[in-house]
This record gives sequence, structure tokens and C-alpha cells, in this order.
Amino acid sequence: MITGKNYIGNKLSAKGDKTFQSLNPALNSSNEWIFTEATSEEVDEAVQLAWDAFEIYRTVSSEKKADFLTTIASEIEALGDSLLEVYCQESGLPRGRAEGERGRTLFQLRSFANLIQEGSWVDAAIDTAIPERTPLPKLDIRKMSIPIGPIVVFGSSNFPFAYSTAGGDTASALASGCPVIVKSHSMHAGTGEMVASAIIKAVQKCGMPNGVFSNLTGGGRTVGAQLVSHPFVKGVGFTGSIQGGRALYDIAAQREEPIPVFAEMGSINPVVILPGALQNDLDKWSTAYAESISGGTGQFCTKPGLILGIKGDLLSQYTEDLGAKLVALAQGCMLHSSIHSNFNHGKELISSQSGVSVVAAYEQDVKPNYAQQRLTTVEGKTFLANHTLHTEVFGPFALVVQCENEQELVAVIKALEGQLTGTIISDSSELANYTNVISALQNRVGRIVFNGVPTGVEVCPSIVHGGPYPASSDSRFTAVGIHAIKRWVRPFSYQNWPQELLPLELKDENPLGIIRLVNNISTAKAIESTTKELNI
Ligand code: NAP
Repeated sequence: MITGKNYIGNKLSAKGDKTFQSLNPALNSSNEWIFTEATSEEVDEAVQLAWDAFEIYRTVSSEKKADFLTTIASEIEALGDSLLEVYCQESGLPRGRAEGERGRTLFQLRSFANLIQEGSWVDAAIDTAIPERTPLPKLDIRKMSIPIGPIVVFGSSNFPFAYSTAGGDTASALASGCPVIVKSHSMHAGTGEMVASAIIKAVQKCGMPNGVFSNLTGGGRTVGAQLVSHPFVKGVGFTGSIQGGRALYDIAAQREEPIPVFAEMGSINPVVILPGALQNDLDKWSTAYAESISGGTGQFCTKPGLILGIKGDLLSQYTEDLGAKLVALAQGCMLHSSIHSNFNHGKELISSQSGVSVVAAYEQDVKPNYAQQRLTTVEGKTFLANHTLHTEVFGPFALVVQCENEQELVAVIKALEGQLTGTIISDSSELANYTNVISALQNRVGRIVFNGVPTGVEVCPSIVHGGPYPASSDSRFTAVGIHAIKRWVRPFSYQNWPQELLPLELKDENPLGIIRLVNNISTAKAIESTTKELNI
């Protein structure tokens, strides 16, 4: 059941008088549920509870935290079809996508449970004492990662499950030992409340402290801004627009105690298509890219929005073919009317720039909130001279840039802002001639793809989902995969600390059997003789 209330820890609460409804974009009508925005008092209460819960939660064993994460997954599964129905009603996304995204969310929760159960993720490093060292004895020093404190997670509009209430940010933060306060996305507040109810059930079943999780609703920016400003909040996870991510980053930086904001924002995901690939596989790559540009109605952060090639008959033929295939695909519903109007504004903005031609556009009438695909093209020198052409258009739209030669292609890549992905489509025999292109692309992106499409992010330890700004606010971290946990921890050293007071991860006998760096050697073995007293 959806109540429209906030979860302040385990308690449902609706003290405010500001209400809103989510939209069913496919029907273009409001959903039945009425949500009450969290008041300033409720925000404060949730953060205070999270702060108190942190004192307990950070000492909970990995075994118990892992059980908590897997129980969350089971409770989400137990919500069954009713959760999928609300997801579809609030997002306009099809049932198959809802099922797939739920599967990914459960997989993420279970992957983080496995990670913390195994334990080596804490990056333990131990340097044992050498009391006899001269001129000064060497001290016993031991380091591991520890959680930073309550984290605020902003649910994303385009992944109502996998990057929202119990998504990758929440799962990684809870796994690390940090309480989480979710600022639910107002476009899918009902989906968010249902998932939050599953998390709260897991909190109670697993005996976790009240306040380890809260879910707050609000659509007027004030809830989010207050959360990020709160002195007891120690980190932020965000997926959304550059404007939103940057505004929250700036709030965090201006606090008396600045805190890290891990924001995953815009990306146009450049794709370089080289002549050999066009010569041999033009049809294959136009089909693949029409599907990748329009998949999920173009609302993936990895959607290829920019295709770069070297001017000539083959590129012209490819562009025509791609445009025809793109507009021939079915028109999809967008997530929300505001995202739909942003899409229309964005594609008109690019199309109206001097030197830009429309290659193909779906012009027939569509239902409200459905997207009409469009492909445009421009010359390399025009692209270089006009920064507006570098703007992300969220939806089934792309721009083909026709470069004069390899030098201009490299110049275009170097002029781009940071990106999540970059792709090279090439006949492998020609690759050696384009090392400058590959090198320039590598410097702008977090993940480089060869002969494939950037959409479809595999959740695995080797994935990097992040990149130089503005793809993400800190390119040293990934938002997807188990290493996303590193965003919520800090390294901590124990110097000369008594064995009995050390955490299990750092004790001589290595009771967890984890891999540790002991005196510069990576090993899971126990340390036999480090209990020597230091005589200093
Ligand atoms: P958004 O506007 O960035 O909002 C995301 C979340 O951040 C919402 O919870 C919003 O709160 C909050 N927020 C935004 N600006 C804020 C501010 N100044 N202060 C406090 N909180 C703030 O993203 P969206 O609603 O998902 O979509 C809007 C546009 O973002 C899309 O049209 C698209 O262009 C882009 N987008 C890009 C990606 C991507 O992966 N590249 C993903 C999603 C969206 P409120 O609900 O209170 O406003």
C-alpha cells in the first residue's frame, strides 16, 4: 500500500502541508496517490536518527550487514507484481524493463552482501614493528577502510529501481557501514515508498538500528538542499542533470565542513566510426546505433549522442542509413512531461544552430510524452566553434560530426568535456593508424568501447561508470560495480594498538581470512610473531 508519507527511520510521518502527485506519462494523467513533502523538522529528525544509528551500525559485523542486504533483496522480491505495476505507472517504462531493472537491483544488493562477507574490500595493510631498527624503532601500524557517516542518496529519474531507493548508491553505502537517507525522486515517489517499505521491514527483521534508513519525499528542491547542508550528513550520491548535481556539489562545498558529493551527471558518449568499419559493416553499425540511440527512449546516461567520422561518401551514406533506421523504430514514452519538454527543447536548440542539418526526423503526431526521434549532422569546424553543440540531449537524438581529416577528428575529441564512455568502431587493420584518436578519447572518458555500443552497463568489478567532469564529479570513483563502495569510506590507521582492541580485519591471526598487505606482501596468512612489545 502506498501511504504518501515519509519514512523517518521506521516510522511513517506526514507533518507537512505541501503535497504532490506523480504522473502516469503513458496516459498523461496524475496517479492516484498523494505525497506529502517532508518538512524541515522531519528532515532534521531523519538526519539526527541516522547520526545516532551510525554509532551502532558502524560496529555491526559484516556477516549481519550482509544478511541485512540480502533481506532487503528478498523483501523487494516479496512485493511482487504490485511493485512492477507502480514502476510502470510512474515511469512509462515497459514491464520487461521493470523486471530487468528489478533483477539488476537485487543482484547489486546481493553482490555487496558477498563483497562484505568476503571482507578483503577494506584494503587492510599491516606493517609490523621492528623494535631493533636503528636509528629509530619501526612502529606497528595497521590501516583499513572505515565508513564516513550518514549518506544522502538522490534517486535518479531514469532508473527508478537500480539507481534509486535501494539502488547502487544505497546498497554500497549500507554495505560500507553508513546509514542512508534517500531523497526520493518525485516522479516515482510511489515506487520509492514501496521499496522503502521493503528496506524498513529488513531493518526490523535483522535488528538494525532505527534510522539506518529513511526515505523523504519532496519536489521543490528544499528537502534536498536541507539534507546536503545538514552538519550530520557526511556524503552525497546523486544521478541526474548537470545543473542539479552541480548545485548540490556547490552547497556541499560551501558548508562549514565540506563533504564529498559523488554526482553522476551528463554525458554525450562520443562514438568514433572509422572508414574501414564503414567500408565493411555499414549496415551492421547503422542498425546497432539506431537501436542504441533510441533504447529506453534515449534516456540512458550512456546513450550515444555524438557520432564522429571522417567526411566522405561512406560517412554520408552511413548517416542517411542511420537516420532512416532511427526514425523507423517505434516511438517511446518518456519518463515525465518535463523530461519530454527538455528533450524537445534540446533537439530544437541543436537543430537551430548555424551549420546544423536535420538528416531524419519523425514528424508524425505522437501521444503526449512520446518522443519523436531525430538525427542531425554538422561539420567538424562548426562543432569546434560552437559549444552549444556539445550539450546533452536526453532522449532519442544524436548529432553526426563530419571531420575534415584525422587531425580535425582529434581536435574535436580534445574539445569535448569529460564523458562516461567513448567508443571506437573500426576494422582492426586500420586501428594502428589512429593511435592519436584512441589516446585523445582515453583522456576524456571513463570507459572505452571497441566495436560495440556504450549502452547496457554490465554490473561487475571491472566496470567504470564515471569519468572526467561533468560525467561525474570525481573521476577516481565508479558509481556501478562493487568498487562503488569506496566512495563511502576513509582510510584509518591504528598505531601501536593493542591486539585485543583491533578490529577483526587487522588482528594478527586474521580470523576473517581476508587478503591483506602485510609488510608489503599480499597474503591471507596469519601473522605469527608481531606481538612483540615495543621498547620505546
Ligand atoms: P534533476 O533535475 O537533476 O533532479 C534529480 C534530483 O536532484 C531530484 O531529486 C531533485 O529534487 C534534485 N535536485 C535537482 N536540483 C536541485 C537543487 N538545485 N537543489 C536541491 N535538489 C536538487 O534530474 P531529473 O529530474 O532526473 O531530470 C531532469 C533532466 O536531467 C533530464 O531532462 C535530463 O536532461 C537530465 N538527466 C540526465 C541523466 C543522465 O544520466 N545523464 C539522468 C537523469 C536526468 P527535486 O525533486 O526536489 O527537484
